[in-house]
Amino acid sequence: MKRIAILGSTGSIGTSALEVVRAHPGEFAVELLVAGRQAQLLADQVREFRPAAAALPGRVAFEQLCELLGVSPSRPVWEGTRLLCGEDEILSAIKGSSAHVVLAAVVGMAGLSGVLAALDAGKDVALANKESLVVAGALVLDAAKRSQAKLIPVDSEHSAIFQALRGVREREISSLILTASGGPFRDTPLSEFSSITPERALKHPQWSMGAKITIDSATMVNKALEVIEARWLFGISSEQIEVVVHPQSIIHSMVRLVDQSVLAQLSLPDMKGPIAYALRFPEERLANVMKPLDFGALRELTFFPVDDQRFPGIRRARECLAGAKGACAVFNAANEVAVAQFLSHRISFPSIHVLIEEALQKFGDRGYESVGDLVDLCTAVEVWARQRVGALRW
Ligand code: NDP
Repeated sequence: MKRIAILGSTGSIGTSALEVVRAHPGEFAVELLVAGRQAQLLADQVREFRPAAAALPGRVAFEQLCELLGVSPSRPVWEGTRLLCGEDEILSAIKGSSAHVVLAAVVGMAGLSGVLAALDAGKDVALANKESLVVAGALVLDAAKRSQAKLIPVDSEHSAIFQALRGVREREISSLILTASGGPFRDTPLSEFSSITPERALKHPQWSMGAKITIDSATMVNKALEVIEARWLFGISSEQIEVVVHPQSIIHSMVRLVDQSVLAQLSLPDMKGPIAYALRFPEERLANVMKPLDFGALRELTFFPVDDQRFPGIRRARECLAGAKGACAVFNAANEVAVAQFLSHRISFPSIHVLIEEALQKFGDRGYESVGDLVDLCTAVEVWARQRVGALRW
């Protein structure tokens, strides 16, 4: 039985992971659940999965959790499950847990500390939280190397490449080909972008995901983050990472080999596939995790180049990778603020790219040495970006 910890258990990836656990009794034991604010859902998960510990970062949600489970915050144990509160307790719980693998599914840079804690403790990490690699790729890789822990991708594109690469030698790889659905505005004229509302942008044509990644998909900043993620996961230069729009999201990504054959991984778009694969790795796959792909019902698989004018994020990500050490972190921090501001109706859809561009002009040449420096840099970008939004009419 594989013992697992889930960071971000109440989110889209976290709940899909628990669906996998529920559907395969006897395969997984849940050791630790960490959530953000959703005390009610976490209480339900604690009752159902009975982890050794469950944790929330904030006091208010923690007291709510205790109340829902009928225990006192001063003696926070529910039928053997320890209830924990605060970032320090969460990091100690990750390090001290008996989990074999930690699913990192917190959204945004907030997920970085959990990833580093798990790797430092020598635990394999099933990585959904792409932002941690975007912000701190070198530090994350160093932590994994030091403790010999494995980093297993959960992002569907990187999982597809990871799966396709098994049995392929490094020198046989010509390039990696990330597929992109193109999001809901693939065919929307650029002139209409300023009237796009958060409600429209939150309707993704293929995937059901958390709000932040859904907006990232609509701006295609998600694919930009994934280019950076692929650079670190597979140790490959950005010139060897191609991106192609594939609206049906059936081919999840591909590997072009030196003899010009191409390996692809296909399935219906369902995150349970890559989640189960990562949680089981390196053991064999579980059966029937997803619905079967019916080729008779597939009308077409189409491919288009990325329109760089409408979706400039991928070009910028490549520039960041070629630039100063902190540039990718600046890109990510500006995007996190921009997406939150767009979701709150404070800036327009095209302003997301403008804010990223301006942040890179101001902070893009910065470097960092330690996690502390990096956090300071990201905080400076966030503070600046919020002020910039407040000072301007967008
Ligand atoms: P969601 O917004 O649905 O979920 C985010 C999770 O993180 C929630 O459980 C939330 O808790 C928790 N959380 C937020 N802040 C904190 C914090 N400070 N401490 C602890 N927990 C916190 O996001 P998704 O599941 O969509 O995405 C998660 C990650 O996976 C992202 O990095 C995303 O890019 C990546 N990913 C997602 C895919 C998807 O299909 N959804 C596909 C590929 C990658 P709460 O809800 O309780 O506040």
